[in-house]
Order: sequence, then structure tokens, then C-alpha cells
Amino acid sequence: MLSANFGNLDKDIEMVNNSQAGWFHLDIMDGVFVPNISYGFPVVKAIAKKAKKPLDAHLMIVNPDKYLKEFASAGVEYLSVHYEECKHLHRTLQNIKSLGMKAGVAINPHTPAELLSDILQYANFILVMSVNPGFGGQSFIESTYGKIEKLRNMISKQGLDTLIEVDGGVNKENAPLLVKSGANILVAGNSVFGSPNPEFAITELGRI
Ligand code: ZN
Repeated sequence: MLSANFGNLDKDIEMVNNSQAGWFHLDIMDGVFVPNISYGFPVVKAIAKKAKKPLDAHLMIVNPDKYLKEFASAGVEYLSVHYEECKHLHRTLQNIKSLGMKAGVAINPHTPAELLSDILQYANFILVMSVNPGFGGQSFIESTYGKIEKLRNMISKQGLDTLIEVDGGVNKENAPLLVKSGANILVAGNSVFGSPNPEFAITELGRI
């Protein structure tokens, strides 16, 4: 939703509701963990009120532990925190789950997939950043394919059903290879909202 029109958010929420999109992806940025500020709880709650699909909040903030409860009560179902920010990641994931949400671990482009081997079994999903987090509309980092493949192998070797989500610069050109590499969830912002027919852009991505 970072690429949505915040002057007329209802219209874009309605579009997503009517589309084949599975979830609403909400990028929460604090201007500290990433160099940009996006939006906070009033907007999350406004989206939750109208959304007919699960909310997936991606916390690009320092000290995410402080806000887990508030995201749960705002109606978020999928919550991801950054590996780079959590000193006690295992505990954070347990806390997210105890609040009734699915727990995700997000990694920046510089963070190797291998670092997740001991935490995989505690996460419901891994979010792989395919651009440097902070801004919408950036171009896709090509090494993402290899990272997803590595993660997919690690997940199947451990006999887990952890989902892999890719976030940043996803479009209909790179989506087929992302899915082939092992991604289950594609986050699309600009390639959907920047298209003349956003609903159709979602349908096209859904066909991949
Ligand atoms: Zn995101």
C-alpha cells in the first residue's frame, strides 16, 4: 500500500478488495531503521476497517517489540520484523505468535540467507527484501533469485512449510523467475499502482 494514493485511500483499498490480491502489504517505516517515514497506526486502522483480506505489516522500525500488541489490536494478521534489528529474534517471534499473528522474519539485501538456519523453524514466513528498504519504486536487485533458492533449499531440508515473501521492485518481468526460485508471496507496489489498470496488473501477476 506504500504506492497507493493516500489522498483517496478508500478507492485503492476497494481496488485491492475486488482484485485477486491475497493480502494487503503495509510498510511501516520510522525514519531511523530506514531513511524514510511512511505511516502509522491511524492509517493501519483505517485500512483494517475497510480491508476484506488479511493485513501483512512489515516493520522497518527500531525496537519493534514495543509495538507488537498494538499491531495485533489494529487487526494485523501477518507481522514481520527485521533480522537486523532484533537482538532476541526468537523471543520476538514467540511474542508475535502469542498475540495470534503469523510471525515473519525480514532480511535486507546484504543479509545472507544462511544466517536464518536456526530461526527458520520458528518463523511462519521469511520476507526477502529485493531492494534496500526505505522507498517505493526502486529497481530490483538481481542476486535475490539466488538468495530465495538458498532459503527454499534450507526450508525443505529442515522439512518446514515456511513461506517466502519477496518485497521490492517486483513486476511481471521478474515474477516468473522469483516463483521458480521458490517464492510463495510477491509484494507489488509500483508495478500495480503505477499501472493504468491496477486490478488487471494484479490479475497478471496472479497468473504467474
Ligand atoms: Zn514491505
